[in-house]
Amino acid sequence: MRNLIALFACCGIILNAGANEPAAAAAAKLAASVSKPASASLPPAGKKPELLLPKKPALAAAAATTAAAAAPAPAAASPKTEEDSEVALSEKIAKRLAELRERQQARASAAVHAKKAADSKRKQEEDAAARATAAAAALAAAPKRGTNWSYEGDLGPGNWSKINDNWAACSAGKRQSPIDLRDGLKVNLEQINFDYHPSSFSEINNGHTIQVTVGGGNFITVGNQTYELQEFHFHRPSEERINGKGTEMVMHMVHKSYDGKIAIVAVLLERGQAHGLMQTVWDNIPLEKNDTVSPSIVINPLDALPEQRQYFTYMGSLSEPPCTENVLYIVFKQTRQASPAQMALFARLYPLNARPVQPTSGRMIKESN
Ligand code: ZN
Repeated sequence: MRNLIALFACCGIILNAGANEPAAAAAAKLAASVSKPASASLPPAGKKPELLLPKKPALAAAAATTAAAAAPAPAAASPKTEEDSEVALSEKIAKRLAELRERQQARASAAVHAKKAADSKRKQEEDAAARATAAAAALAAAPKRGTNWSYEGDLGPGNWSKINDNWAACSAGKRQSPIDLRDGLKVNLEQINFDYHPSSFSEINNGHTIQVTVGGGNFITVGNQTYELQEFHFHRPSEERINGKGTEMVMHMVHKSYDGKIAIVAVLLERGQAHGLMQTVWDNIPLEKNDTVSPSIVINPLDALPEQRQYFTYMGSLSEPPCTENVLYIVFKQTRQASPAQMALFARLYPLNARPVQPTSGRMIKESN
C-alpha cells in the first residue's frame, strides 16, 4: 500500500513537472485524495478484518447458503484480501493518472494553440506593416502617368506637369505657348507658301476642343522647310494676345515636317460675318465626346486663312500637355470673322479652353512689316 502511494506521488511529480502548479504540492494533494477513501474502506494496516469474518461456523454456513441462493456472486460476499485492495487502489490511481495526463495534455495543447495564434497574428501584423511601407514607397517612386487634364481646377494648367512625368515641360519649360506678342522685330518676313487643296476630313469632340483631322497632301513651306497639315482645332478665348489684347476665339492649324518638327498657324477670330468653313465643321459636330464623324464631303483649308498674310513668328510649344517645345508659331496679324451664332455654338461646348499666357523669357518675336 505505501509503495503504491509512493509510486503515485512520484508519478504526480513527473506529471506536474511541466505544469505551473508546484510539483510537490500537487503530488501531496493527489496522494491524499487517493489514499483517504482507500484507508476509510479498509481496516488499518496490520489489523485483521474481523467484521467480515464469520464468528461461528454454523452462522457462516447459513449465511453462505442464503447468499448463494440470493446471488450467484460469492466473491461479493467473500472477504477482501490486502492484494485485492491494492489492485483496486492501483486501478484507481491509474485512472486518476490518466485523467491528470489528459488534463495536462489539454492544457499543453491549448498553450501551443494560443502561442500559434499569437505568432500568426503578429506575423500578419508585420506583413501588413511591410506591405503598407512597400506601397507607400512604390507610390512615391512610381512614375506619374495621368492622362486627364483640363483648363480649370485641380487638373488645370498650373498642375499639368504634376499629372504626368512626361509633361514636365508644362512648368519647367522656358519656351512655352501662348505668349503676348509685343515688341516684335519688324522685318521683311518671307511669304509662306500655302499649298492647300479640297480635302476629306473627320471630326472629333475630344473633350478639350473640336478637332478636325484633314486628309493628306496639304503643305506649307517656310524658308526651306515643308510641313504637312495634320489637323485644326479651336480655342475660346484666343490663346494668343497681340499687345495684351486677345480675341473671342482662335483657330490653330497644326503642321508637321517629315522629320517631326511642328509648325502651328494661328488665325484669330472676331465677331462679324459668318465663317463658311467653320459652319461646315459645326454642321458635322459629333454628338458624343470622343466619337469621330467622317462626312462624305470635302473642305478646303485655304478657306481658313485671312486675305492679308503678314504675321508674327516665334518659337514656342504645344499649348496643351505634353507642352512639347521647339514649335514654330505663325500668327496672322489679320483676323478672320465668325458670326455671333457660330461663336455661341462653340461657347456652349467649350466656354473656356485656353491656356493662360506664358512668360516670354526674352524670346525673340519677329513680325512682318
Ligand atoms: Zn491649339
